[in-house]
Formats: sequence, structure tokens, C-alpha cells
Amino acid sequence: MNDAVTRETLISRLQAALGVQAVLSDATDTAGYTEDWRGRYRGEALCVVLPSTTAQVSDVVKLCAAAGVSILPQGGNTSLCGGAVPPTDGPAPVILNLARMRRIRQVDAANGSMIVEAGCILKTVQETAAGVGRLYPVSLGAEGSCQIGGTLSTNAGGTSVLRYGNTRENVLGLEVVLADGTIWDGLRALRKDNTGIDLKHLFIGAEGTLGIITAAALKLHPLPTQHALAWFAPRDPAAAQQILGMFQNACGSRLSAFEIMNRLQFDLVLANVPNRRNPLAGAHAWHVLVELSDTRDAEGLEAVLTQTLGEAIEQGLVEDAVIAANDTQRADLWEVRHSVSEANKKAAVGLTTDCAVPVSSVSEFIDAATRAVHAVVPGLDIAIVGHMGDGNVHFIPMFSFAAWAALPDSASMGDTMRACVNDVAARLSGTFSAEHGVGQTGLPLMQRYKAPSELALMRTVKAALDPHQLFNPGRLVP
Ligand SMILES: Cc1cc2nc3c(=O)[nH]c(=O)nc-3n(C[C@H](O)[C@H](O)[C@H](O)COP(=O)(O)OP(=O)(O)OC[C@H]3O[C@@H](n4cnc5c(N)ncnc54)[C@H](O)[C@@H]3O)c2cc1C
Repeated sequence: MNDAVTRETLISRLQAALGVQAVLSDATDTAGYTEDWRGRYRGEALCVVLPSTTAQVSDVVKLCAAAGVSILPQGGNTSLCGGAVPPTDGPAPVILNLARMRRIRQVDAANGSMIVEAGCILKTVQETAAGVGRLYPVSLGAEGSCQIGGTLSTNAGGTSVLRYGNTRENVLGLEVVLADGTIWDGLRALRKDNTGIDLKHLFIGAEGTLGIITAAALKLHPLPTQHALAWFAPRDPAAAQQILGMFQNACGSRLSAFEIMNRLQFDLVLANVPNRRNPLAGAHAWHVLVELSDTRDAEGLEAVLTQTLGEAIEQGLVEDAVIAANDTQRADLWEVRHSVSEANKKAAVGLTTDCAVPVSSVSEFIDAATRAVHAVVPGLDIAIVGHMGDGNVHFIPMFSFAAWAALPDSASMGDTMRACVNDVAARLSGTFSAEHGVGQTGLPLMQRYKAPSELALMRTVKAALDPHQLFNPGRLVP
């Protein structure tokens, strides 16, 4: 902070710009913004501001820049890697939460686009699109609370990447407030625009280090109205991989999800989240949810689902399978998949990892990472859940709360476990951060796994767009 500006001066200037109600400075009011939802990360904020318009965001940026105080943009605070809360070291930033910027500015079904403000909740965007017969396909467990700005800034993945791509593939344009307060209006809802460097991609996945996203033009797709879903127990991950290929050949782009979890992960959901049940008879080592969808012809979908699963059973790749008989059963099975994070939070200390490897290497990754973890802690519980269709596996070494508390140095155990898993991904030409982002958890890993030339390029971009380190200083690029 500049010597000339005190905390109180900045707060009163922010109050004058936004109104008193939009500036929270009391510790009890800011508590929900300075800690992550799992209680693993907590930091200090100078205050929390809740602007309602892009112009107000610009005002906040100018005031903070003049005062020499950094800004932490925040969405729904659902980050799984401590990305949305301040660090414990360094000067306290102003948290700029976008929750009040939640207007849907435009829906254009014919163009397959909608323009929404960054604070819109993902689920609201999905529902609004569905209301005009369109699909916004990004879908994930936190969709009831994460914001569009957060999903853009982390380039969120989720369960439909296999068919529709990551968030990046579903954005047409952005509006961003830059480090000097300039509002960049790049809200063009075009599918073709080759007029120079595509600037929006700089801000997508930048985790709030280059600017504050205030609105986005999103790409909508035809709304599938017919679905066919099966839950089955593959013999092992290699069999699941083979079955994925069979579905891709049989269904093409109608294959919309292929999610895998191991028995421990499945059991944790049943034990810790009410109203979740095992759709199969008996216990199985592995579970897969596969879904097909289309805009018409439900019978055709079910036929291809049944036939492909039947072939897999004949080949000895599947131990048991069930097909959802109606939309309620389908929703129930998705609930099992979406309950994983809630279950794990209640059950134990899970060291979440977020690796992606080529789809053809998923089974090898699971085997090798299991061996690597067990070489350090023999027999340790490991929950595995993954978007197998896109090669993203959350491989989660689990410690009971008591075992974790008894460790002489739990932080270094966490680092060792993550290194075991991430090193295997790196060896298989994979990544340590497929969809959650880098946040605080992944920051040290950037140095370990990214090439110096790549880090240098990122530093050049940061220096050009945010020369005074206003936005999330010290994040993303170590
Ligand atoms: C139950 C559960 C399930 C999840 N499942 C998935 C999953 O399947 N796939 C997946 O990818 N993620 C998943 N996540 C992680 C998380 O939901 C996503 O990363 C989400 O995109 C974060 O959105 P948010 O609004 O909560 O952002 P926050 O957590 O608030 O912020 C995340 C980052 O974005 C920055 N940021 C936020 N808003 C803006 C903005 N407007 N402008 C600039 N920077 C901004 C922040 O500074 C921070 O660096 C899950 C989380 C939970 C709790």
C-alpha cells in the first residue's frame, strides 16, 4: 500500500464509489470470502467489494491501483486448489467478488449464443439456455454455486468435455477490466473472426492474474432431448478403456459422458451422502457411468447402448450393468457421480490430484500411480474418479483424519504423495492440472513441470498486461 493511503482511506473511497453496503470490512462479514469451502486455505483481505456493474469494477481497479493494493477476483469460491482465497503471507488484497453481476444480457437462440455477466451461477446459465431449447454444456459438481467468471478463469472441465470440450471451447467473446481500469469490450458472438490475436484466450484459464472478466458471450448448442444412460462394472480400467473405444466407434458424437470411479470412491459416496444407492447387485472393483444423448430418437440411442454393452459383456469386459429406465433413475445416477467431492470432504483427508494423460494411457497411469503411492505408504487407501473420456483422472490418496493428525509432518507427506502421482503423469506426457487450475496447491508444481521457456513466456504476458502486479500477485507463474 502506498504510504499516502491508509486502509481506512481506501475503504472510504471504495464505499463512495460502490455504496457502503457493497464494501465489507468487518472480519465476521468477510469470513466466508477469506476461507475455502473445505477449510484448507485461509487468508486475510483488506476488505471485500461487491460491485454491481462493469463501470464499478473499473472504479475499484483504478482506486486499488492508485493505492498500490492488489486485487483478488473471486467467483463462487469453489476452487479445489485454494485459488480463490488470499495467501497467508504478503500484503492483504482487496477481494473483488462478482456475485452481484449476474444479469443475463442477451439470449440469441438462432445464433446459438448468450451474453451473461461474470457473476451468473453456472446452473442459471444452463437453465436459461435450456429455456430456449439450447444447451450450455459445461457441467460440474459445483454448478449450483460456481460462477461463469470462475469457470472461465480456470477453464473448467467437468463431465461433458468428451463431447463439447472445456470452457475455452464454449466461449465466443469476453468483456474484461484491465489493470489500468480500461474496459475491453470483446463481446462478439461470432464463430468466425480472424482479426488478429484472439485476445479472449489470454484471460481464459489465467486464474484472474491478467484482468477481471466481467461478462462473456457463450456458445450454445442444440439441446439434446433424448438420453440413454448405463451404469456398469468394467473388469478393470484397461477394459473400460477398450469399451470407451467401442462406444466411440458405435455412437460418434452422441457419446456425451464416460466417467469412471473405483470401489473405494463409490463406497465413500454411499456411506457419506444420504439417498445414494448402488444400482448394481453386489460389489465391484470399478464403476463406469456412460451416457449417450441426441436431439431425437430415444429408441435408437437405447438400442446402440444395449448392443454395445452386450458386446462388451460377451467379450468378458463387463461384470454387471444396468440401464436407467427413466429420467429419475438417470438423475439419481448422475447424483452419485456429482456427490464425490462432498463425500470425500466428510470421509477423510483426500489429497486431490488433477492429472490428465492421453486417453490411451489412463489405465497405465492408474497402475503406475498406485504402485508409486504404495511404495511410500504400503496399502494406503486411494480413491479414483475420472473423466475417462478425456483422460482426466482424479487420483486421491486418502488418510483417515486420525492418521493425518498423527503424521509428524503432514505438509511434506502431502507433497510427497502428489509428487508420486504427478511424476507418473509427467512421464506419460500428461499434466498435473487438467481442469482445477493451479491455485495455491499447484504453484510449486509449475516450476517442477513446466519448461523454463513456457514460464518465461507467461511472465512476459503478465508483465505486458499487469506491469504493477495488481491482479493476484504471485499466483500462476512462480
Ligand atoms: C463439488 C465440486 C465439484 C467440482 N467439480 C469440478 C469439475 O468437474 N471440473 C472442474 O473443472 N472443476 C470442478 N470443481 C472446481 C471449481 O468448481 C471450478 O474450478 C470452478 O470453475 C470455479 O468457479 P468459481 O466461480 O467458484 O471460481 P473461484 O473458486 O471463486 O475462483 C477460481 C479462480 O478464478 C479467479 N476468478 C474468479 N472469478 C473471476 C473473474 N470474474 N475474473 C477473473 N478471475 C476470476 C479467481 O481469482 C481464482 O483464481 C469442483 C468444485 C467443487 C466444489
